[in-house]
Amino acid sequence: MATHKLLLLPGDGIGPEVAAEVEKLVAWFTKAGIAAFETERDLVGGAAYDAHGAAISEDAMKRAMQADAVLFGAVGGPQWADVAYEVRPEAGLLRLRKDLALFANLRPAICYAALADASSLKKELVEGLDILIVRELTGGVYFGEPKEIVTLENGQKRAVDTQLYTTGEIERITRVAFDLAKKRRNKVSSAEKHNVMKSGVLWKQVVTDIHKREFAEVELEHVLADNCAMQLVKNPKQYDVIVCDNLFGDILSDVAAMLTGSLGMLPSASLGAEDASGKRKALYEPVHGSAPDIAGRQLANPIAMIGSLAMCLRYSFGLIEAADMLERAITDTLTDGVRTGDIAAPGMNTVSTSGMGDAILERLQTLAR
Ligand code: NAD
Repeated sequence: MATHKLLLLPGDGIGPEVAAEVEKLVAWFTKAGIAAFETERDLVGGAAYDAHGAAISEDAMKRAMQADAVLFGAVGGPQWADVAYEVRPEAGLLRLRKDLALFANLRPAICYAALADASSLKKELVEGLDILIVRELTGGVYFGEPKEIVTLENGQKRAVDTQLYTTGEIERITRVAFDLAKKRRNKVSSAEKHNVMKSGVLWKQVVTDIHKREFAEVELEHVLADNCAMQLVKNPKQYDVIVCDNLFGDILSDVAAMLTGSLGMLPSASLGAEDASGKRKALYEPVHGSAPDIAGRQLANPIAMIGSLAMCLRYSFGLIEAADMLERAITDTLTDGVRTGDIAAPGMNTVSTSGMGDAILERLQTLAR
């Protein structure tokens, strides 16, 4: 059995609390003989700043480059609000994304039947929802140059951000989206604004070409990004995979996220390009931040982090059965009424972070029997 090298970067705030639950599961998978993991741990974010004066040390970066996958908790907190911009906790995550060249961000939005009441939308609109947003992560307006604020002769200031995409950047994210759709419900919706943006015109053209040349068997639709935002709250179940650029993906994935109820439920994956042996660099993390308001009190919901482990098993290691089993264990735990505070209806009993982790592990053990 192949040994998978995992680097665990718990980070700050609730990061270490939710990461501890993932460690329990990783240990169980190894003990049960389902998969073999070699896990290393290191610091990131404010914790790394306190120890090394940087948001991630060179040693930790080296380990991340050598790992088969990185599991990341969360970074940040008010105690680091005044540290220099280039060593602020978030810089650790940005460095990882950049150096590992993680261009594809996958954010599933799944609404568990047991939690459909927690959504701000009507239950029938979201119950059973299962969509995947594939966001381009390393290009577009967040990185395009020029990016500046200049003072004009008349004393006014002018701010510039540049939305910029090349054919190659659009092609590689499009292929990721089509590949994933083939393993799901076989539909891709490409969101851009070709009506007002040149980058949208090229985006639509490239997606259409790739579809025709390589993925004609997958259903493709083009949707304007603003309409996509409306459709997501009107009839989200019409979507399977949505592919979009960095800016629209940032916004649309947050809209989709909220359909499911709580930040504590949302996993994500960021993937790099395939190397010659078919492996990708990859980082898995919950969508939520370090939640300083509840940190250190065992109040955090670990499901987003545990769901990130399930994505890691599926996308980095091809352990599909193990991933399915872990996701099923999460569903069963919720169906049995186990709740952390963020997803509990009024009057329901709640469990701690480790209580939720233990409950999921128990269901997993039952499923494996
Ligand atoms: P947040 O996601 O940390 O918290 C927002 C709200 O959701 C809080 O009320 C929090 O208690 C709650 N929440 C978040 N995760 C939860 C969980 N697992 N279980 C239960 N409740 C949960 O966002 P924020 O408050 O805007 O930011 C706090 C810090 O996190 C800031 O320093 C910010 O920069 C950082 N941050 C980091 C990341 C990251 O590491 N990827 C992402 C977002 C924010």
